[in-house]
Amino acid sequence: MIVLGAGPAGLTAALYTARGKLKTLVVNGPMVGGQIALTLQVDNYPGFPDGVTGPELSDRFKAHAERFGAEFLDSEATKIDLASKPIRVWVGEKLLETRALIVATGMNHKRLGVPGENRLLGRGVFVCATCDAILYEDKRVVVVGGGDSAVQEALDLAKYATSVTVVHRREGLRACRCLADRALEDPKISFLYDTVVEEIMGEKRVASVRLRNLKTGEVRVEETDGVLLAIGWDPNTSILKGQLDLDELGYVKSEGINSGKPGVFLAGDLVDRKYRQVVTSCGSGCAAALEAIRWLEERPAQ
Ligand code: NAP
Repeated sequence: MIVLGAGPAGLTAALYTARGKLKTLVVNGPMVGGQIALTLQVDNYPGFPDGVTGPELSDRFKAHAERFGAEFLDSEATKIDLASKPIRVWVGEKLLETRALIVATGMNHKRLGVPGENRLLGRGVFVCATCDAILYEDKRVVVVGGGDSAVQEALDLAKYATSVTVVHRREGLRACRCLADRALEDPKISFLYDTVVEEIMGEKRVASVRLRNLKTGEVRVEETDGVLLAIGWDPNTSILKGQLDLDELGYVKSEGINSGKPGVFLAGDLVDRKYRQVVTSCGSGCAAALEAIRWLEERPAQ
């Protein structure tokens, strides 16, 4: 069994397949833990009433899979061939073969690509209000984006923060009316339209952003304690191109966890456009693993 990706979905899948006595190799990708490794505090994962840091939860997931014998490869899969039997996975020059594959490569929040963004990620630059809003109690936050996510996240943050400034590059929101109206009525939320963030500044933590108005050209620095990026998502499916049917945004066209290819199962954010919580990712990793185990049991090795 090979599992691609080591976020909550991949790590849970590996725990189940390893415990199910399958020789399990997790090809980590860039980071064990996936998105939660970037989250300071996870307060909504059951069993941790006092919360847990994202990195600690990731380490615990990994240790749990390792306890049953899962092995980890600290590299990224570079190519796969789902039509061959066994399925072939390349990690650079190295060729791996497997009878079953779980793809749990997840999503990436889109990044702005401005100076300061990567350096201050996890230090005031964040991507999930559900996860981190409580850390911004009585603080000021800038939310970048103008879609449903940006407005939903601004509403969530406004429950804690003193002020939330939504910075959007267009002159009107793209978010649905129902969300937009609620945000427009919220006294803590203000909007800067036709405006982009050019730089995120601060030494150890975010302290301010440099903003440019695209219509007037005016540049100004706004002090803030946090910058939430809500400019959309990219599914990590480039490796699946030509192997599975993808839609124009790069999502797999699948029936849930079943990829439609024999022995290939999908888990986590790749098959969840709606909830994207740690616990739902773990659930789909579990389901993919159980399907994979059953699929292999019905087809004993030759
Ligand atoms: P989205 O609809 O793609 O919106 C992304 C926003 O970010 C757009 O306003 C876009 O600006 C802006 N943006 C993109 N790249 C940018 C950049 N480089 N610099 C500055 N701004 C940038 O993404 P989303 O809001 O995450 O929503 C994704 C899907 O999830 C949607 O189908 C949405 O309906 C759904 N969703 C629903 C809810 C809900 O119902 N509560 C909540 C969250 C998400 P432009 O407008 O100029 O393109």
